[in-house]
Amino acid sequence: LQDKKNKLIAIHNATAAFYHQVLMNTVTGEPALAYLKERGFTTELLQEFQIGFSPPDKTATQKILENQNFAASLLKETGIFSDRSDSSELLDRFAGRIMFPLRNEKGATVAFSGRILPTDNAEKSDYHEAKYLNSPETILFSKRNFLFNLDKARVNMRKTSEVVLFEGYMDVISAWNADQKNGVASMGTALTDEQMRILNKTVDSVVLCYDGDRAGMEATRKAIDLLSTNQRFDISIFPMQPGMDPDDYIQEKGPQAFREGIQNHKESIFQFQSRFLKTQIDLDSEKNRVEYLERMLKELVQVDSIIERELYLNELAEDFDIDLAVLKKQLQEYQQVHM
Ligand code: ATP
Ligand code: MN
Ligand code: MN
Ligand code: MN
Repeated sequence: LQDKKNKLIAIHNATAAFYHQVLMNTVTGEPALAYLKERGFTTELLQEFQIGFSPPDKTATQKILENQNFAASLLKETGIFSDRSDSSELLDRFAGRIMFPLRNEKGATVAFSGRILPTDNAEKSDYHEAKYLNSPETILFSKRNFLFNLDKARVNMRKTSEVVLFEGYMDVISAWNADQKNGVASMGTALTDEQMRILNKTVDSVVLCYDGDRAGMEATRKAIDLLSTNQRFDISIFPMQPGMDPDDYIQEKGPQAFREGIQNHKESIFQFQSRFLKTQIDLDSEKNRVEYLERMLKELVQVDSIIERELYLNELAEDFDIDLAVLKKQLQEYQQVHM
């Protein structure tokens, strides 16, 4: 099996090199290269992540790989070719996409993700195909166990004992370019137990930096729930405005503002839950204000530090013009239920 894995990795490496070459040095790659440059990708960054372009001609990849004497039976197992292809003609499932090698913790390319290249009639192409397409699960690649950029980020994760979790690998790359080099992302799925276990081996602190939209906030809440089951993690959130993701933030406010934000402007879990709840509950009505207060007091039960609890209690009392003693009493009741 190891022998087979090595061969499949060799095919992935050759394919990544081919895609990269097409992007950097051919006419076919020009539109994709122009798009990436416009998004702020420098040549060094494209090289560092070995970003590429899969030619629109679906048969090109097979031809290149067969010239390098890889057996067709093995090529089929890589997941690079679409399931419908028969043995005589292997069709690249990623044809026409910008290609991102997915590397395992040792830096070996084990899968790909392809981003659609926006065209002038972007709406039309968006309608027909997904923006991102990943390799299927193979003996080399399992999504639940995979974290994008773990190979490069790990040394920095260890140094800082911190990881920054992003929703998209574009954000990871953008953060890397902004000199925030301890970022990883899952591949479009919610954070898994397996991924948490990987992080647990390397860091104490997790900074969640997901997209500012509703989906990003929901994902943040889920990640908090999962990560909280592990007492070891110190969890914080670097919030994005609605409509912004970390990549947008870096493009708009610059690398330094981003790094500074990660350092100094994180929310606690309580602060995040409060902000999130406020997007769901309209505080204009009395009934809703009561519900908000009750739910936040229940959140406070989870806050271990007495000082922090006191601080948040005071904030709530002030915000809602309510007697601190009353809030304390209610909190004590919830604490007893909790024990
Ligand atoms: P871009 O800036 O290029 O639009 P993004 O990183 O902002 O990309 P999002 O739409 O925020 O992309 O999605 C975040 C992540 O979710 C992506 O990196 C990808 O892994 C996953 N994803 C998004 N859309 C899809 C899709 N249609 N199919 C599979 N995975 C997807
Ligand atoms: Mn998103
Ligand atoms: Mn995004
Ligand atoms: Mn984005």
